[in-house]
Amino acid sequence: MWHFENCIGSFSGLEKMRKTVHWMMKNRATMVIWVVVIGKLISAVSLNQDLNLYWPSFLLFPATLKKLHLDVHIAPHDIQNAAKDFGGRHHFPPAAVVYPTSITDIQNVVRLVYMMGPYSKLTVAAKGFGHSLEGQAQAEDGIVINMQSFKGIQVHKESGKYTTPYVDVNGGELWIDVLRETLKAGLAPRSWTDYLYLTVGGTLSNAGISGQAFRHGPQINNVYHLQIVTGKGEIMNCSNDQNSELFYGALGGLGQFGIITKARIALEQAPEMVKWIRVLYSDFRAFTRDQEYLISKQDGPTFDYLEGFVALDKEGLLNNWRASLFTPQNPISLSTINTKGRVFYYLELTKNYNEKDRTNVEEEIRALLEPLSFIPSSVFTTDLPYMDFLDRVHAGEMKLRSKGLWEVPHPWLNLMIPKNKIAAFDKGVFKGILRNNSNGPIIIYPMNRKRWDDRMSAVTPDEDIFYLVALLQSAVSTHNLEYLLEQNERILSFCEKAGMGAKQYLSAHNTQDKWKKHFGFKWNKFVENKRKYDPHTILSPGQRIFRKSKAFSVL
Ligand code: FAD
Repeated sequence: MWHFENCIGSFSGLEKMRKTVHWMMKNRATMVIWVVVIGKLISAVSLNQDLNLYWPSFLLFPATLKKLHLDVHIAPHDIQNAAKDFGGRHHFPPAAVVYPTSITDIQNVVRLVYMMGPYSKLTVAAKGFGHSLEGQAQAEDGIVINMQSFKGIQVHKESGKYTTPYVDVNGGELWIDVLRETLKAGLAPRSWTDYLYLTVGGTLSNAGISGQAFRHGPQINNVYHLQIVTGKGEIMNCSNDQNSELFYGALGGLGQFGIITKARIALEQAPEMVKWIRVLYSDFRAFTRDQEYLISKQDGPTFDYLEGFVALDKEGLLNNWRASLFTPQNPISLSTINTKGRVFYYLELTKNYNEKDRTNVEEEIRALLEPLSFIPSSVFTTDLPYMDFLDRVHAGEMKLRSKGLWEVPHPWLNLMIPKNKIAAFDKGVFKGILRNNSNGPIIIYPMNRKRWDDRMSAVTPDEDIFYLVALLQSAVSTHNLEYLLEQNERILSFCEKAGMGAKQYLSAHNTQDKWKKHFGFKWNKFVENKRKYDPHTILSPGQRIFRKSKAFSVL
C-alpha cells in the first residue's frame, strides 16, 4: 500500500514537475525577468555590503553618495548651474552634483552607478567649465561630477623618457592655470585653444585647436599619458605603450570611455614676447593660397601661429571681440579702402621671440611676409607678452560680460572643410547664405591632417589640408536665435548637397545614424571601445551618441 501511495506520490510529483516545466516554457519571458530581478536584488545587497551601506539608502542616491564621504550638492542652485552651458539652449537638471577632491571620489561615483547594472537609468557626466554648446556636459536626472574641484599641476622641467619637458595636470584644471604654472618654470604647452578658460579634460575630449595646430597638431596630439576612470569605475593608466586603445580612444572620445583624471602634456620653452601681425585681403583665393603656402612650409623659419578671419563688413574689421587687445602700431586708414558691400579676409600671424632677439625677429618676419599677396600697406603689428597673447580672448569676454552679452545663447557652428571645397564654401556661405551679415566672429584657418593621429577618436575630413570654419554667432533675442539656428541648418544642408565631406567640430548630432556617418571608418572602433570601457552606457549622456533608456539595445 505504502508502496502504491509512494508510486502515486512520485507519479504526481513527476506530473507536477512536467507541468512546472511546461509553464516555464510557456512563460519564458516572465521567467527571464524574475531571474534578472532576483539577480539584481542579490547584487544590490552585495553592493551595499561592499560599500558598507544600509539597504534603503541604496535607493536614496544622494544620501548614498554622501555615505561615500563625497561632497554632494542637491540644492536648486547647484542643480540649475549643472544644467547650464555656454550654448544656453539646453537644460537637463541632474539629480545631484558631486565635487570631487580625489580620484577615489570620481571612482566611487562611477563604480556605484556601474554596479547598479545596465537597467538602471542613472548616468554620469564629467563637467569641465560647461563651455559646451548643446548640453554635452549635462546628465538629466543623473550625476554631474564637477571636475573643477579636482585640481593639481606638477611641472617637470626634465624630459625624462620623453622628448620634451612635461606637465602632469588634473582633468579639471583650466588651461589658463596650466599656463600660469608652467610659465613660472619658463615653459608652456605647445598647442592651444583661442580661449583658455576651458578645462584640460574638456578640450582633450574634443581635440583642442587653435592657430598652433598646423605646426603641433591639436592639443590631443601633444599628450604623453592619461589617467582615466573608466565607465566600470576602474582606474587605468594609458599611453602609446600602455593600454593604447583606451589612450587613443579617449583623445577626442567625447567623454564616452572614461573620465580623464590626469593628463601628461608636452611642454616647450616659452618665449617672452609675441609679435602679432595682421594683414588684409579682398581676394579669397589669394587669402587661402597664402595660408596653405604658410602651413605647408616644412623647413626653415615659419610663423608660430596662423588664423584667418572673415570680415563681412567694415564693422567686422574693427569690432572683433577676439582681438580686443590688438592696438596696432601702424594701422592703415580703412577709409582708404573701399569696403562697401565687400567681404574682407584677414590673416593673423605671430612670431615668438625673446627681447634679446628683437631685431632678428623683425628681419625674419619681413622675409616670411615677402611672398604673400595681401593688400599692400595693410600690415598691422603689435608686440605683447606671450601670456597676454594666449589669453587674448579673455579681454573680449570681460567687455561682453559688462554689457550682459556673454550669457546669451550661442548657436555656434564649427565645421571642418576640405581644402578643395573651401572656395565653394566661401561663395555659397560667406557671400551667399550669410549675406554680408554675422552676429559674431568668423574664423577660418587650415590645418595639416598629418598632424592628427588616425588612432585617436577625433575625426577630420579626408584630405591632407582642411580648414576649420567657426561661425561664432551670439543670439540677442529669441527671434534672432531662431533665425541663426535656421541659418545653420541651411549651411549644413548646403554642405551636404555640395558633397563637401565636411565634418562638424564640437558636434551635436541627434541620431545614432548621424554619429555613425560623423565617425565614418572610426565608428566600429568607437562602439567596440564603448562596449569595453563603458558597457552600461553611463558616461557623458549629453553627447547623445548612446542612450541608456533601453539598456543594451543602443550598442
Ligand atoms: P565641458 O563643456 O564641461 O565638457 C565637454 C565634454 O567633455 C562633455 O561631454 C563632458 O562630459 C566631457 N568632459 C569634461 N571633462 C571631462 C573629463 N575630465 N574627462 C572626460 N570627459 C570630460 N575649442 C577649441 O578646440 N578651440 C578653441 O579655440 C575654442 N575656443 C572656445 C572659446 C569659447 C569662448 C568657448 C566657450 C569654447 C571654445 N572652445 C574651443 C570649445 C571648447 O573646446 C569646448 O567647449 C570644450 O567642451 C571644453 O569646454 P569645457 O572644459 O568647459 O568642457
